Amino acid sequence: MSVQEKIIDESKQGEALFIESELKNGKKLFLESYGCQMNFSDSEIVASILMKEGYALTKDFEEADLIFLNTCAIRENAESRVRNRLNDFKRVKQKNSGALVGVLGCMAERLKSQLIEEEKLVDIVVGPDSYRDLPNLINEAEDGHKAINVILSKEETYADLSPVRLDSNGVSAYISITRGCDNMCSFCVVPFTRGRERSRDPESILAEARDLFGKGFREVTLLGQNVDSYLWAGGGLKKEVLTEEQKARSVNFAQLLEKVAMVNPLLRVRFSTSHPKDMTDEVLETMAKHHNICKYVHLPVQSGSSRLLEMMNRGYTREWYLSRMEAIQRIIPGCGISTDVITGFCSETEEEHQETLSLMETVKYDFAYMFSYSERPKTLAERKYKDDVPEEVKKRRLQEIVDLQRKHSTLRTAEGLGKIHEVLVEGVSKKSKEMLMGRNSQNFVVVFPKDGHQPGDYVNVLATLCTPSTLIGEVV
Ligand code: SF4
Repeated sequence: MSVQEKIIDESKQGEALFIESELKNGKKLFLESYGCQMNFSDSEIVASILMKEGYALTKDFEEADLIFLNTCAIRENAESRVRNRLNDFKRVKQKNSGALVGVLGCMAERLKSQLIEEEKLVDIVVGPDSYRDLPNLINEAEDGHKAINVILSKEETYADLSPVRLDSNGVSAYISITRGCDNMCSFCVVPFTRGRERSRDPESILAEARDLFGKGFREVTLLGQNVDSYLWAGGGLKKEVLTEEQKARSVNFAQLLEKVAMVNPLLRVRFSTSHPKDMTDEVLETMAKHHNICKYVHLPVQSGSSRLLEMMNRGYTREWYLSRMEAIQRIIPGCGISTDVITGFCSETEEEHQETLSLMETVKYDFAYMFSYSERPKTLAERKYKDDVPEEVKKRRLQEIVDLQRKHSTLRTAEGLGKIHEVLVEGVSKKSKEMLMGRNSQNFVVVFPKDGHQPGDYVNVLATLCTPSTLIGEVV
């Protein structure tokens, strides 16, 4: 993954996830998630574990007995938002002395003692690999002890748990295929908060995809910090120690993608996130071969400068990245492409910033997540390099990147005008109840009149108008 890519739709940050469920132990759980798709997907695992324990979910933290924040540590401001939110929960504890507050996810490891001892805001702290231990930790906390488990695992994939689909549109769902990351990009905190990379048994992934299809879902997104490095060689076997024979018998990402695509031709398959150093032609050829694998790749570049890419420990150069772009367009003409960019990384010069802009100009991404560098504790960059680009310079460079991307997004969206798009309907448009919205294969949002269509339907839409980020049209 890239760090930034995990920060999904910014409008969903901190959104409370809610489902109706039967009250069993009389207690209510409020669960709020921050950060990346992986975190949102983990919240579905947490909900599954706690609903088995009899908890019902609530949207209203004021009435909750258990308040959990699933946190993100990728950028400093994500952490400060969580701290502010914890202060909001103080009054729940004042009103209901039995109420417990827990911090889950990536902030847990980093801030465990601070949150529990110094700030006394939190009763339970749980890292991303310890969710099975939640029932015990809740018991401990109910007995008045501070409950912490931030142990990272080399095996845990939660493969046997059926996630409870939270905040679902009933059409699209995430399936986690790997956990952790071995890449050690120098700016990234993920390897420290989520541990070593593990791949999940393909049979459990396929079972989850079939189950979702049976329940009416029509799109799955395979999730991992770096999906291209997925490799299943049997329980517990690590890819570094595989013999040639074991490698030949193992399942790589391209093979997994094909297996999921074959679950049903009406099930769309997406994935996130690819890594430029690991994305193979085999993956691209598999995408090209199956109509239901969406023609869209999110390929984080981070910087257009080879010197900075080396400092970031990304494992590729500018030239290599551009050669991957050429491969995508050669094997999948018209493929949608998005990226992540970090500006103002340690020692970035004006010329290197221009290299990022020129790479963006060459590729003309459909979409990008763009951030200025924020130093994170424990990372290689924190230990090795100086965060020496002044804030006002970072801010100005970021604005230049954002402005250029806006121009490219507008251009790319407009290229869809006059064309017919196969759209999977996701729901009613936010702007008009008379319109539906969905996405085409390239991940562009398409809006069109309802005309009796339902979420989960596939419709062909002729795009006649557009905004900078949305195509508008009519069903043909
Ligand atoms: S270390 Fe892993 S998770 Fe972090 S940016 Fe690199 S590839 Fe992504």
